[in-house]
Amino acid sequence: MAKLEVWRGSMHDDKTVGGITIETITVSPFSENCMIVACGATRKAAVVDPGDEAPRILARVRQLGLEVSRILLTHGHIDHIAATGEIKAETGAPIHLHRGDLALYEKMSEQARAFGLPVEERLPEVDVFVDEGSVVEVGDLSLEVIFTPGHSPGSVCYLHRGDENARDEFSRDGFVFSGDVLFAGSIGRTDLWGGSYATLMNSIGRKLMALPETTRIYSGHGPMTTVGRERLSNPFSRDFVSNIL
Ligand SMILES: [Zn+2]
Ligand SMILES: [Zn+2]
Repeated sequence: MAKLEVWRGSMHDDKTVGGITIETITVSPFSENCMIVACGATRKAAVVDPGDEAPRILARVRQLGLEVSRILLTHGHIDHIAATGEIKAETGAPIHLHRGDLALYEKMSEQARAFGLPVEERLPEVDVFVDEGSVVEVGDLSLEVIFTPGHSPGSVCYLHRGDENARDEFSRDGFVFSGDVLFAGSIGRTDLWGGSYATLMNSIGRKLMALPETTRIYSGHGPMTTVGRERLSNPFSRDFVSNIL
């Protein structure tokens, strides 16, 4: 049994460890965390949830000497997808989304209007529909898709499973990009279109909390956390932990 370890790093303690690069770029008035994750051996990278500020994201990609081979969307809310078109135009990388959020994705301009934002752009077509168990390769790095609805009907998380024999920290602990499903000390809201509190609790309890406690959680908003920390201290843990058994 792995011992419980609580992550003690700083808010955005991104770094390159053993070849894997994980970087957070917080964008837009929504303070959304766009993530860059890259394989050190091939320098191929995925951009997760490009919510805004494409030039900043692309500048960092270039600075790191990476080639974007995937655009991974955790869900279809505007704060996670608005820069998808620009990243696609610049890199040609395929766009990944769960079909359950296609309606949201296709209605980005309606979402923009609801927030009073001047976005009329139509996003490019989704290239790959991911689902529970899909595996996405980013160079030599593989990410597994976990279907975690509740915040939106097609929310997914992208997981790199930990391997306790791995030499580097990221590979040993494992990490997951959780979008708006789970945050440090909070959960995704369930009052938006297609949201459901019961479904979200089920997703968090059965899927995310089933991961080893060391697994790092990179959320769509706010600081990084771990499965172990949320299990212990998340104010909603009584509700989602009751779904584990
Ligand atoms: Zn959202
Ligand atoms: Zn969000």
